Amino acid sequence: MTPIEKLAELFLRFPGIGKRQARRFVYFLLGQPEETRTSLAQAIENLNKEIVSCASCRRFFIGKETQKELCDLCGNGSRAQDVLIVVEKDIDLENIEQSGAYTGRYFVLGGTVPVLGEPKDNELRTKELLELTQNLKPKEIIIALAATPEGEHTANFVRETLSPLQKKLKFKISALGRGLSTGTELEYSDADTIKNALSNRG
Ligand SMILES: [Zn+2]
Repeated sequence: MTPIEKLAELFLRFPGIGKRQARRFVYFLLGQPEETRTSLAQAIENLNKEIVSCASCRRFFIGKETQKELCDLCGNGSRAQDVLIVVEKDIDLENIEQSGAYTGRYFVLGGTVPVLGEPKDNELRTKELLELTQNLKPKEIIIALAATPEGEHTANFVRETLSPLQKKLKFKISALGRGLSTGTELEYSDADTIKNALSNRG
């Protein structure tokens, strides 16, 4: 395999990237000054050196050097501990946090369940979610996934996963209000939409 093919193969693993685009990225990089390729390689290397996954919510944060286990949200004792919101990815968490409408705890699921197909267990952090629920013993878990068929399907899967623990710990499971219109991804929702969806949850 040539270096061009090797890098194209790596780009192909990115979400939504096809073979043609993957090769276009490689040729774009080859057309750039050498410094650009060096700083890109360094930026990726720095992810390895500095970023870790939070032991509680699983989001990525700068904590490798300080050997921190918890991100600043999970380590912040003044956050409400009785409500836990489940999101698909880090960007969704950041968006909810920026809306200023939520003060509880988070959990980043890490993926979705395809409508036709089996959930990939290695992608979805179901074991970690159960572990956190068991430790936190929240009064409410809010499922905040995209208002798409795949998001709904994943939400049902999460409800089923939590169901045995829910019987034991008696927490409420709610979902974001459909202030988020059909097909909306949390990633692209503005602060007001998120505020509405949170206050209209049920
Ligand atoms: Zn955290």
